[in-house]
Amino acid sequence: MTDYRNHGGFCELLPLMAAGCLDPAEEKQLAHHLQTCAACATELERLHAIATGLRRLPTPQPSPSLFERTRAAVEVRFVQQAEDRWNRSVMIFLIAFAWVVTVLSWPIFRVVTGGLLSMLDVRFAQAWLSFGIFTGLVWLAGAAAAILLSLHQRRERRMA
Ligand SMILES: [Zn+2]
Repeated sequence: MTDYRNHGGFCELLPLMAAGCLDPAEEKQLAHHLQTCAACATELERLHAIATGLRRLPTPQPSPSLFERTRAAVEVRFVQQAEDRWNRSVMIFLIAFAWVVTVLSWPIFRVVTGGLLSMLDVRFAQAWLSFGIFTGLVWLAGAAAAILLSLHQRRERRMA
């Protein structure tokens, strides 16, 4: 008769049993279950065969060059990931910065150029136009800075 109540739990213990990693109490319980469960007994036999086979296999030693290549590949991936993260955070920062500048600079722009504009009798529409140009320049400068920064970072990392 199969003891279906505890079958699931004992199933998970089988690999540990085959590896000889169970404590005596668990081993005793499992041995008791094995007497009533053909499925677990068969599975344990199979695991025993695998464990014995594995122990007979020579432990593979990675060659130094393979180890070095793997290490270098892992390193490149880490650098790339860090670079992507860095580029992303720079872009987020610059976009946020450009928005803040855009929002905050209009009143400042009005105050700074207000006197000048009224002196020159420049119409409101033209003030908006110059503000638009000013904002565009700020965004362009931000984008240029981002591109230069990321190029510089990449070159630095490649040389390192
Ligand atoms: Zn079982």
